[in-house]
Amino acid sequence: MKAIKELAKKVLNNDRLSVAKAITLVESSRLDHREKAVELISLLSGSGNEALKIGLSGTPGVGKSTFIESFGLKLVELGLSVAVLAVDPSSVRSGGSILGDKTRMELLSRKSLAFIRPSPSLSSLGGVSLRTRESIAICEAAGFDIIIIETVGVGQSEVMVSQMSDIFVLLLSPGGGDELQGVKRGIMEIADLIVVNKADGDLLPAAKRTQADYISALGLFKTRGEDCEGFPKVSLVSSILGVGVDSVLKDIEKLTKWRKDNGYWHEKRKAQAVYWFKDEVQNSITGKFFNKPGVKAELETLSEKVSRNELSPDLAARQLIDQFWK
Ligand code: GDP
Repeated sequence: MKAIKELAKKVLNNDRLSVAKAITLVESSRLDHREKAVELISLLSGSGNEALKIGLSGTPGVGKSTFIESFGLKLVELGLSVAVLAVDPSSVRSGGSILGDKTRMELLSRKSLAFIRPSPSLSSLGGVSLRTRESIAICEAAGFDIIIIETVGVGQSEVMVSQMSDIFVLLLSPGGGDELQGVKRGIMEIADLIVVNKADGDLLPAAKRTQADYISALGLFKTRGEDCEGFPKVSLVSSILGVGVDSVLKDIEKLTKWRKDNGYWHEKRKAQAVYWFKDEVQNSITGKFFNKPGVKAELETLSEKVSRNELSPDLAARQLIDQFWK
């Protein structure tokens, strides 16, 4: 398809309109668009460009936009180009996009080195993951130095984003006391950097306490092989004042360099590629199975039986699969 070849060429030249168009194409749920999207991604795959992919997660209101604005402006000042992509799993349920609704990162969005893309809405989480990976691939092929993938902190999406990123940052706000927010073990295991935001004014003492709490909680976990001395690190920033943002960047650079020097960088990327390959196999098997004629109706019938306790969940699953699997 000539038009797709043309689009790929323009993306490779970092033509912003074409990058936006390409992302719109991969986000589309139309079947004919999907075919074009697959072709586009394969045309872009040999670009040889490599971006630093930073995943950033935090609950709504923690200051993600403010942090990205401040952090992104620093990158731009250094002459680095940055793309910001948002994954908003809440849009799956509400049908609207929380992250995309407000005017966000106004100063950053005016910079020519920055590209900000609001989150797509109305898609299943599985769909979100494929589309986000494709959007990342587009931005990487377009030659952005840094890609920030932002997500609202709700379990599953964090793990998903961490599997797409080289470095994963968890943003927190000063805690209201003894409860450690987000210290679900899983999150502590995937965060490379924990950043306590709003370390300013009246909130500074609480921010310092939160930092200390997390440092001691992290002490309970064994250091992973892929961490250099002092990581995962817990630091304080004030995104509004721009304080501490520089050192977050330095920490990211330090960890990145260490991982590259010690072979963990490419190992991680390879492991991620395999992870997504297996994930896609699973998704596509699931999709094909549920699209077989009769499966949905039988699923409903068996669900009824399971809910009435006439059949165990396990036996019902076996029955369904035995009946339709070929
Ligand atoms: P998001 O929902 O995570 O993207 O959070 P926002 O960036 O929209 O910030 C939520 C609120 O926290 C806004 O009112 C910000 O002004 C405020 N905020 C963000 N960063 C800071 C900070 O460093 N210090 C203080 N005091 N407030 C902040």
